[in-house]
Amino acid sequence: MHDFLATKFSRWFPGHEATSMAKKAIKLSENLRAQVPPCVLHALLVSWLNAWCTDRRFQKEPRACVLSEQCKGRDCIEHYAVCEHMWNAAHKKLKVSMSRCSISRFFALEPLINDDCAILAANVYAVLSLTNRLRASNMRCSADSLHTELWEAHRTLSIQHKGLRKRCINIWTA
Ligand SMILES: [Zn+2]
Repeated sequence: MHDFLATKFSRWFPGHEATSMAKKAIKLSENLRAQVPPCVLHALLVSWLNAWCTDRRFQKEPRACVLSEQCKGRDCIEHYAVCEHMWNAAHKKLKVSMSRCSISRFFALEPLINDDCAILAANVYAVLSLTNRLRASNMRCSADSLHTELWEAHRTLSIQHKGLRKRCINIWTA
């Protein structure tokens, strides 16, 4: 599994970084197993493996970022991982810091000191499911609805999963 992931990660990370990220990914998926529902682990895995159904993946000319009508980014994981509109919405609803909006942090592989990896992973699930839905209906989020749309995915997860529900309550009562 480690070598397989390291090969896949060479898409995202240069040289030895891919190997160290693969190690982190294996450790993280073991740790997260008890903390998030299987759909969140699945979302994380298909992200690491570059298996989102983006235009870029299907070698079409990528459409614009579907997360915001105002975004100049394209429909590809590389963009969504660093999309300022996405991080802004995550900051607004999940109170995550905006200080390092990188692909390794989006993938929950290099969290900041105050990040909760279960919340970062749930955010990957929320972004993946929302982009799938918007792409399927050929729509883009309006500037002021992204945080509500992403929050809806978190709310659905927290109804299904007691651990995530507790984490969301903690965020809002902290
Ligand atoms: Zn964007």
